[in-house]
Amino acid sequence: MVILTLNCGSSSIKYSVYDAAAKRFVCKGLVDRVGLNCSTLNHAVDGGVVKLERSCPDHRAAVEMVLEVLCEGKDAVLKDPSHIKGVGHRVVHGGEKFHKSAQITPELLAAVEEVSELAPLHNPPNLSGIRAAQHHLPAMPHVAVFDTAFHQTMPPPSFIYALPYEWYEKYDIRRYGFHGTSHLYVSRRAAVVLGRPLDALKLVTLHIGNGASAAAISEGKSVDTSMGFTPLEGLVMGTRCGSIDPAIPQFVEEHEKVGWEAMDHTLNKRSGLLGITGKFSDRREIQKAAGEGDRRCQLAIDIETRVLRKYVGAYAAAMGGLDAVVFTAGVGENSAMIRERVLSGMEFLGITLDAQRNAKAVGGKSEDVISTGDSTVKALVIPTNEELVIAEDTLAILEGRLDKPGFRYSFE
Ligand code: ADP
Repeated sequence: MVILTLNCGSSSIKYSVYDAAAKRFVCKGLVDRVGLNCSTLNHAVDGGVVKLERSCPDHRAAVEMVLEVLCEGKDAVLKDPSHIKGVGHRVVHGGEKFHKSAQITPELLAAVEEVSELAPLHNPPNLSGIRAAQHHLPAMPHVAVFDTAFHQTMPPPSFIYALPYEWYEKYDIRRYGFHGTSHLYVSRRAAVVLGRPLDALKLVTLHIGNGASAAAISEGKSVDTSMGFTPLEGLVMGTRCGSIDPAIPQFVEEHEKVGWEAMDHTLNKRSGLLGITGKFSDRREIQKAAGEGDRRCQLAIDIETRVLRKYVGAYAAAMGGLDAVVFTAGVGENSAMIRERVLSGMEFLGITLDAQRNAKAVGGKSEDVISTGDSTVKALVIPTNEELVIAEDTLAILEGRLDKPGFRYSFE
């Protein structure tokens, strides 16, 4: 059984083909600059990487290009598109309706459209990608896998804001949380690595990429997370501010005579690490400059890691205990320095980092325990695999297994 996964952004499509029998991805790729004159496709197969250029004015043209590269030429991985048995789509926002992945029907599309207002940058391109894929692959089932679904287990004290309650009732204003497939994946792998049942564990998972979020996971369920109504809240991110005093934007709007749109752009695209350093959002550049003595880059690292530490402590307190802290995504998987800054001096919580193991855990290839053997709370590095969750959810829906009691992923 072969599953195609698609993650459609406004100007890009990430795709992969999963062979369920062999339990492996046979290729992964990315189409960039969709909607512009010269789109590029990078297609990674076992033999290497193929690059193509073509004009893709919209998602429909881009999906057509993907299907061509999958089925034609010397790097084809499929004989023809009919070999694809299902398509799994990443959908950022499922609102309160979707607690798990679901087969795409006209009703589901209408429901996703309804919550698009809550994710105006993400849901519209997700929907346009779904429609494009349905156009080219009308005969097979399509499945929506929501970033928000995993966090739907949060209890009301975690998701209700201290705002007029009728805003929740009228406008669905609440914490939703994002990066759900990543937090789900690494929490389940953590149980395997620790050799303990998931339902006996209290975990803090830290997904630190350009976007970043923390989750408190108790007995396998998300009970709190740092991103909120939108992906702007919480940790310090590459260009997003994370949590700030909500009075600040209005103060600056009045002083600088800027409108709400410009402020929204600043909070999402010109804040976070870029805002603090004034020049970089990429951690590698920040760490290099900090090492060379750049004070603002040093400050950015101090702030980023301090906020991460606060979430570890807060979630341990909120859960009433902690068994492991899990690092994942670009920074979490690669930066021993950031991990060390987050967890050093946490022996009082039971965490003792092993400096050598931490230094070796880079490259995003292996799952590593980076705490000492006698550390009562473990620290782990687990490379995330959101595509695998999308592929396995799609497969489980096609086979009618997702809703069955005791459903488990193959990676658990
Ligand atoms: P996203 O998927 O949110 O775009 P990623 O998970 O790919 O982000 O993470 C991107 C971040 O990871 C960038 O800030 C990048 O600098 C950082 N990163 C990647 N490799 C390293 C490394 N070796 N050391 C430090 N940071 C790294």
